[in-house]
Amino acid sequence: MTATTVTHTANVLDGADQLEHKNTCRLCGGSITALFSKTVLGKYAVTYFRCSGCLSLLTERPYWLDEAYRESNLSNADTGAAQRNLRNLAATYGISKLLKAKNVIDIGGGDGLLCRLLRDYQINCYLQDKYATPTYAQGFTEHNFSSPDLVLGFEVLEHYPNPTADLDNLFSYNPRALLLSTCIYSDQNKDWWYLAPESGQHVFFYSNTAMAMIANKYRYELVTCSDFILFVKNPSLLTKLGAKILLRKSVVRLFKAIIALLPTPGISIDHAFQTQKSKKVSLSLE
Ligand SMILES: [Zn+2]
Repeated sequence: MTATTVTHTANVLDGADQLEHKNTCRLCGGSITALFSKTVLGKYAVTYFRCSGCLSLLTERPYWLDEAYRESNLSNADTGAAQRNLRNLAATYGISKLLKAKNVIDIGGGDGLLCRLLRDYQINCYLQDKYATPTYAQGFTEHNFSSPDLVLGFEVLEHYPNPTADLDNLFSYNPRALLLSTCIYSDQNKDWWYLAPESGQHVFFYSNTAMAMIANKYRYELVTCSDFILFVKNPSLLTKLGAKILLRKSVVRLFKAIIALLPTPGISIDHAFQTQKSKKVSLSLE
């Protein structure tokens, strides 16, 4: 496949621009160059491109996504999913305390384990995921606040087929901060494990430059540490420094251990709330 060359724009595209440029970067509209091909879902020869504008890596337009999500939102090779929930719990707990964030939405929250764990520690978290059943967070998909303080999106960005529109949706919550995770692309080769072509779900790989462009577009400041990405509005220097420390691998590991020792009052509070709700429903049916 031949890359189409267009004039590079230094900004993240808006929706209308995105529709016009079919063979350019789906994030910034920059020119893209074919780097290599991988077999996706065991049968599709898919070309991966590098963008000269935002320096990200992207697949060709992903036409296989329905198939990729047909069986499960979790890839069968994603054996790290459970530990990742505990790590994300520790990071979110720390950041929510630092930013005094009470109301949280977990985008792409899967089966709801993180949402449930956060609620156990009285963080008012709700979940959204169009591909998954919220087994652990049943009853907590319709949030009870007008806008969240914190939006979570762990291992979500790399799934976005159209980052321009998908990021618009994500940032339209207009929270104080967004805590996200994805592996940053920095010219890894075609054997990079994060490409995960066998699952077909990873279709866009952001560079640090792309992250800075996104922060600039939506007017947030960017804090990155390991593979956590925090977008935060008007942070003080102290807040930025605090976030950087809290998201360090060693600190997250320490928090994991501390949190396990804390009481979990949210379990009984939510139990009472859900029981009350069920009673109201059955009374209204009588
Ligand atoms: Zn780009």
